[in-house]
Amino acid sequence: MTRVFSGIKPTGHLTLGNYLGALRRWAEVDQHRSDALFCVVDLHALTVEHDPERVRRLSRQLATLFLACGLDPDVSTVFVQSHVPEHTRLSYLLECTATDGEMRRMIQYKEKAALERARGGSVRLSLLTYPALMAADILAYGTDEVPVGDDQTQHVELARDLAVRFNQRYGETFVVPRANPPAVAARVMNLQDPTSKMGKSEASAAGVVHLLDEPDVVRSKILRAVTDSGREVVHDREAKPGVSNLLEILSSCTGGNPEALAGVYESYGALKKDTAEAVVELLEPVQAKHKELCADPGYVEEVLMRGAERARAMARPRVDAAYEAIGL
Ligand code: ADP
Repeated sequence: MTRVFSGIKPTGHLTLGNYLGALRRWAEVDQHRSDALFCVVDLHALTVEHDPERVRRLSRQLATLFLACGLDPDVSTVFVQSHVPEHTRLSYLLECTATDGEMRRMIQYKEKAALERARGGSVRLSLLTYPALMAADILAYGTDEVPVGDDQTQHVELARDLAVRFNQRYGETFVVPRANPPAVAARVMNLQDPTSKMGKSEASAAGVVHLLDEPDVVRSKILRAVTDSGREVVHDREAKPGVSNLLEILSSCTGGNPEALAGVYESYGALKKDTAEAVVELLEPVQAKHKELCADPGYVEEVLMRGAERARAMARPRVDAAYEAIGL
């Protein structure tokens, strides 16, 4: 059976982008067609300035939302990265396999390091070595496929390179993984700035729909979305990024395609209204399940403990083999 691994950092509240771009597909498709692991990658949250209590709280919330979005702990392995020491054990071996040039070439490193420096902060070494830990997350489990958005494909490529290199130097140890980006809704954009993605670390919440936003908050954010000049509803990401984003969100919720949907609308107002209602309806069951889970914190705790045990049992033999192969 195909093995799938994916994770999300506990660095903010999950957004509609996370749901449409990742979680929905994990829950509806990936966990049923594969042997899947879904991980709260909390170690990755420490690569930039962080607040310990916030990371702890967000990790817990993220795990709860994983379950609320439909990840089923009886079907897939749901766990927290730092509960499984094999990730950091393997990460070091992969740092010894990679070069500093490879790490410095990563677009995300360049962007985030520039941001830290612009803020007058310093860059943590772990921000540079982050892709080695991410490669460890993937390779420890013999992962075949990594369902990620287009922003992560470069890191998966690096994990592939490291797997191939390690295997060539030290003997066949790792499965060579591949990225598997979704065909539709690969990128949900910020409602106030439709040229940048709807991200969970966004400072301003106005353009970001969070999974736990109340229905009226969702409506007001979508009704206030920035649209484009002109009045015609057409799907054109270049000329009409705001309208195209709404069409993509709506089609992602209702199942149509954005070009065909564009023909149905004669005004931006009607498109916004329908998009808002579709999103409210989409989030309703997730929010209801979340509420249920919050009433039973012991259950989430138990799921995570069980998940970590299962993950560790899967990772350990391969990581032990890598230690042996590299000469330890
Ligand atoms: P992390 O903080 O773990 O790097 P992100 O929140 O950026 O994660 O992304 C987690 C998952 O959600 C990834 O698979 C990513 O591609 C997807 N994702 C995040 N934001 C969006 C978005 N705006 N549109 C589509 N997919 C998204």
